[in-house]
Amino acid sequence: MDSNAQPRLLIIYTGGTIGMIENPETGALQPFDFDHLIDNVPKIKMLKYDIDHVSTEPPIDSSDMSPRNWQDIARAIDDNYDDYDGFVVLHGTDTMAYTSSALSFMLNGLAKPVIITGSQLPIGEVRTDGEENLITALQIAAARRIDGSPMVQEVAILFENYLWRGNRATKMSADNFNAFKSNNYPALAKIGLGIHFNLDVLWSADPTGTLTVNYRMDTNVLFLNLFPGLTETSLRHLLATPELKGIVLKSYGAGNAPTASWFINAISEAIDRGIVVLNVSQCLNGRVNTRRYVTGDRLATCGVTSGNDITSEAAITKMMYLFGLGLEAPVVAQALATPLRGELS
Ligand code: ASP
Repeated sequence: MDSNAQPRLLIIYTGGTIGMIENPETGALQPFDFDHLIDNVPKIKMLKYDIDHVSTEPPIDSSDMSPRNWQDIARAIDDNYDDYDGFVVLHGTDTMAYTSSALSFMLNGLAKPVIITGSQLPIGEVRTDGEENLITALQIAAARRIDGSPMVQEVAILFENYLWRGNRATKMSADNFNAFKSNNYPALAKIGLGIHFNLDVLWSADPTGTLTVNYRMDTNVLFLNLFPGLTETSLRHLLATPELKGIVLKSYGAGNAPTASWFINAISEAIDRGIVVLNVSQCLNGRVNTRRYVTGDRLATCGVTSGNDITSEAAITKMMYLFGLGLEAPVVAQALATPLRGELS
C-alpha cells in the first residue's frame, strides 16, 4: 500500500447481536440489515479510511453458522483480496471462535488483517459495545508495521480490550464486554487509551506468499466430551456414526481418560478402522501431556494424537480442513500434531 493512500477496508457483515433489533411482538433479538447497523455508527465517518461493505445473506444469529457460511466469508475475502488492505468481519459471538479458527485454516497464505468482531449489546442500544468494537477493529485493520506491511497478518478476534489470535480464542462470557480470551496464548494487542500491539506474538506472513483459499470443509467429525458415567453403549454408538472420519476427544486435565478396557478397546478399534482421534483437554488452560499419568498414557499407546494446547474450536475446524483437503488418516493425524497457523505451541 502507498504510505500516503487512505487505507482501503472491506466490512463483511454476517449478522450477530451487533446488528440485531428487537422483534416487536416477542421482544427477542433478531438479525437486521447492515444499513441499520451503520446508521448507528456516525463516528465511522471520522476515520479517514476508504470503507466498503458486503453482507452475507441473510444476516444470521451465529448459532446458525455452518461451513457453508464460512465459505461465503472466505469467498468475500478471496474475491476482494487484492483490492483491500484489510477486512473486518462482523459476526455473532456464540460461534465466533469457530469461524475465526476455520478461516485461519481456509485462508492459506493470508498476509492481510482479517479482524472479526461483534458485540454483546445491539448497536442501537445506548450502552452498546458494538460501536467501539467496530471502530477499533477498523483501526486495527488499518494499522501498519514500520516497514509498511500490515500490523496484523492473520485472522484475529477483537473484543473490548483485547485482540486475540483467531484460532487461539474462546468465548468465555455471555455477559462481560470482555467476552473472549486465549487461555494458552498472549493477547496480540491490548486496547486502552491506545492500541498496543505485541509484535513478538503477532504472526508474520511469508511476504512472497499468495492467498489460496481451501473452501472444502469435511464435516464427518464429532466431539466426544468425557464424563464419569459415559457408557460403552453410547460410546460405541457414537464411534459407529456412518462416514465418521475424526473425533475430538475432550479428555480430563492433562489429557486423561478412563483406563477401563471397554473404553480403550472401543477407541483402539475406531483408530484401527481409520478414524483419527485427537486428544484435547476439557481444561481451558494448560496442555495435554499424556505421559504424565497412566490414564493418559493408555490413550497415547493406542494411537490417539495429542492436541497439546489447542482449543476445541481450533481442533474441530482443523480436522474439517485437513479432511477437506482429501488427506488420508495418518497424514491428518500427523498434521493435527503440527502447528499450521500458530494454533498450537
Ligand atoms: N446469539 C448471538 C450470536 O452469536 C450472540 C451474539 O452475537 O453476541 O449471533
